[in-house]
Amino acid sequence: MPLSVLSVASEAVPLVKTGGLADVAGALPGALAQQGIAVTTLLPGFPSVMAAVKRGKVLHSYDSLLGEPARLIAGKLGDAALIVLDAPGFFARGGSPYADPGGKDWADNWRRFAAFGRAAADLAGGLVKGRRFDLVHAHDWQAAMALAYLRFAPLAGSTPVPSVMTIHNMAFQGYFGAEIFSGLGLPRAAWSIDGVESYGGVGFLKAGMESASVITTVSPTYAREVREAEFGMGLEGLIQSRGERVRGIVNGIDTGEWNPASDPHIAQTFTVRTLAKKAANKRALEAEFGLEPGDGPLFVVVTRLTWQKGMDVLLEVLDHLAGIGGRLALLGSGDPAIVEGLHAAAVRHPGRIAVRIGYDEALSHRMQAGGDAILVPSRFEPCGLTQLYGLAYACVPIVARTGGLADTVIDANLAALNAGVATGVQFTGVSYGALTGAIDRAIRLYHTPGAWQMLQRNGMKADFSWNNSGAAYAALYRELTGTQ
Ligand code: ADP
Repeated sequence: MPLSVLSVASEAVPLVKTGGLADVAGALPGALAQQGIAVTTLLPGFPSVMAAVKRGKVLHSYDSLLGEPARLIAGKLGDAALIVLDAPGFFARGGSPYADPGGKDWADNWRRFAAFGRAAADLAGGLVKGRRFDLVHAHDWQAAMALAYLRFAPLAGSTPVPSVMTIHNMAFQGYFGAEIFSGLGLPRAAWSIDGVESYGGVGFLKAGMESASVITTVSPTYAREVREAEFGMGLEGLIQSRGERVRGIVNGIDTGEWNPASDPHIAQTFTVRTLAKKAANKRALEAEFGLEPGDGPLFVVVTRLTWQKGMDVLLEVLDHLAGIGGRLALLGSGDPAIVEGLHAAAVRHPGRIAVRIGYDEALSHRMQAGGDAILVPSRFEPCGLTQLYGLAYACVPIVARTGGLADTVIDANLAALNAGVATGVQFTGVSYGALTGAIDRAIRLYHTPGAWQMLQRNGMKADFSWNNSGAAYAALYRELTGTQ
């Protein structure tokens, strides 16, 4: 019998996505299948998810799951097994998965995702006949309570299973007031410093971290950084105390979706051998954004518009970028103050800076295909995917040296250039000086014959497919279950 893993996540492509977590949870089952491991994904029944299990078999019905009627329904996520927690009282809502249409977090998020965790723990405990799981893998705070329920209130008669808690972003911890504790249906013993209690309230991510056999983050550098207060955001002590039980595994990219040789979204497909064809995508992108056409470097940005992503500092450098012959096409959504600043910069530099506000998957492909370089000035970045797409699409990443950005881009310093291994530009600290310095360096490299193409080729040849990450998760699962 293959190892059977229950992956618990609030998002997974192609059904529901707000960030990189969805890409990972969506790709894991396929990557692990290659390793002979069967992954079943549990998702909340958001409207877009319910559409995929319309005719699915009902595996279990709850009269009341933390106060709402609920069902577990079987479906498919690609070729892999999917189970959806259909609880309309919790999940049949407009807006984003976590916030109302006005952008305010739903007041009952604690109950929605506690219920999700409870259902996961029940499944892992053998609630549904014929569905057996050897390990539970929880992603982020929305799934973390699964591990707390497994530890403190497992289904009666169930056998304990090992667990993995993956932190995709320490900034989101699912922290609630102490008054919710009584609504969780946990025994009093769970209210302790090594349980769900966190700084006087209830910490969902913290509870998952305390209860997991192993904690992982999505890059080795981020796994080290979260030991420090600046990145650990209050949980650094807990991370330190778990010592070797904290690991870092870099995310892969879905090479079926993100392959410039076959991408249906882009004007002209290309490979490392036909790199010159990429120019057609640049022309198309210039036209689409109303930028003046030209041979000078075209920078792109695809991101959430937030402080984490360093977008306030990007705003400060735009005049410099446009002044030295750069052009920028930006796609993003988020902070209204940043949106306003971007629109103002586009007005100041018509033809040189253009922005699209919104979320547009297909356009994000066209930007990687048409851009010369992608700017990723994140203050912290657990893994980051956009720089990986950049590498694959010969859109050279210019990145802050932090988290997964540090682990996946090889800076074009003299040694790396001489050795012929560089793939991008890194800079230290997210400031006006550091970012303008990196942009200047990138433009010099762009105009150095041979250098830029070397960066592009090296990036395209680097393997960030799920093969490596899948093998790393498989090894971890086997270690924890004591199987070969
Ligand atoms: P995070 O998960 O912190 O937002 P990542 O780089 O790990 O950052 O993942 C972001 C994902 O979301 C990438 O797949 C990126 O292409 C995509 N993305 C972000 N903003 C947009 C947008 N406005 N339109 C389309 N795709 C976007």
